[in-house]
Amino acid sequence: MNRIALLLIGSALASSAFAQKTSLVGGTVINPADGKTIENAVVVINGDKIESVASRKESGVPVGSKWVECEKKFILPGYIDTHVHFFQSGDLFTRPDGADFNSVRPYKDEVAWIKSHLTDTFARYLRCGITSVVDVGGPMWNFEVRKIANSTAKAPRVAVAGPLISSVAREKLDLGDPPIVKIDTPDQAREFVRKLAAQNADLVKIWYIVDQDHPVDSFRPIVRATIEESHAHKIRVAVHATELETARAAVEEGADVLVHSVTDKPIDDAFVKLLKDRHTILCPTLVVFERYGRTFSHQLNLTSEEQKWGNPEVIATLDVTKIPQEKLPQRIKDALAKPDETLGRIKKTYDVALPNLKKLEDAGVTIAAGTDAGNIGTIHGPALFREFQLMKEAGLTPMQILQCATANAAKLFGGETGAHVGKVEKGYFADLVVLNSNSLDDIAHASDIDTVIKNGIIYPVDSILH
Ligand SMILES: [Zn+2]
Repeated sequence: MNRIALLLIGSALASSAFAQKTSLVGGTVINPADGKTIENAVVVINGDKIESVASRKESGVPVGSKWVECEKKFILPGYIDTHVHFFQSGDLFTRPDGADFNSVRPYKDEVAWIKSHLTDTFARYLRCGITSVVDVGGPMWNFEVRKIANSTAKAPRVAVAGPLISSVAREKLDLGDPPIVKIDTPDQAREFVRKLAAQNADLVKIWYIVDQDHPVDSFRPIVRATIEESHAHKIRVAVHATELETARAAVEEGADVLVHSVTDKPIDDAFVKLLKDRHTILCPTLVVFERYGRTFSHQLNLTSEEQKWGNPEVIATLDVTKIPQEKLPQRIKDALAKPDETLGRIKKTYDVALPNLKKLEDAGVTIAAGTDAGNIGTIHGPALFREFQLMKEAGLTPMQILQCATANAAKLFGGETGAHVGKVEKGYFADLVVLNSNSLDDIAHASDIDTVIKNGIIYPVDSILH
């Protein structure tokens, strides 16, 4: 039989499968968007959308629909990680600008590995119940990543930003399609934004790096021009800003999203009010703050989820003691010599970042969960469960954490897709996670996944990574 005939049969099968409705029967629906739950529910899926959600007593089960028993199960919207980088693998060699291992593994080999393992990375997200992700910055290749995700069944929905607009260059990452681009003038910024707009970027990302040579005010005109031009093209802007005054400047200039937490000092009431008034979304990315230091000082604390569902080749590289001493970058030698200092620095960061997150959550600022996965030691997919643990340490309730990872994250995702994910509600995409235990009792149960449903297709978890 030729390939076209096979394709025709394939699509006929697919459409007949879609013609039949599926009913998830008897589970407890948890809808973090409004904090409500429905026990003994019936969720009817028709094609790629949710057709109805109701208690079984009210609605019964539609005649002729395929019945999926969900008694004692918990049904949630698919999780959304709003901060990942597909151009980084999470392995030790993925950021030569931060720790140069070219003598161990040339960066071009690393990039080739990443490109050839993209569908594996996608599947690992799905295994973790993550049905949408936002790639907040990478090379122009990112637009290709979004296209590939759109045509891959076992993949999350992907929104992307292109290369980061930055005050500093990162030559070691530049193999011809750099993920970070140094911009020197407002006009350059506007021109670059127009290039991104031509690719239909979902977001524009600014890397607002402040140090002695780059004070807050020197880059501010470029931030302003970038945001003005992006907004003129109806594109939202996410800004990397980790100091209070940098973050404040970014929001004053109109940033729609702040990525990472403020880590240099406690936030003040004026800052909280500013974020509320401007409806700024903040994505804390707590897990990434511990992972560089812990990897470099040989104190990595991967969770059991990361060990099980992370890519094993990536994880195998993270043991720095396997690298010959003479090939270790100085930064890592220093971390290995003083492991306690590294842990002390991480603790200091969390002592500021966690209370800041709690303060923003209590004030009603929209917090969207995100990990910064792809950075060294931050594992694509399951890193989100470590992020949940840290959000819990900050004092957020399970329902608040789930809201950050679903309905709030959908707002950050944005666009038509963002308006149809993150809720178990009629008309939304059938992107769902079915859990064996109740994540409202303990957020740790968020990873106790039985089944993942993406775009109406049902995947028992054990079928996803094989
Ligand atoms: Zn990032």
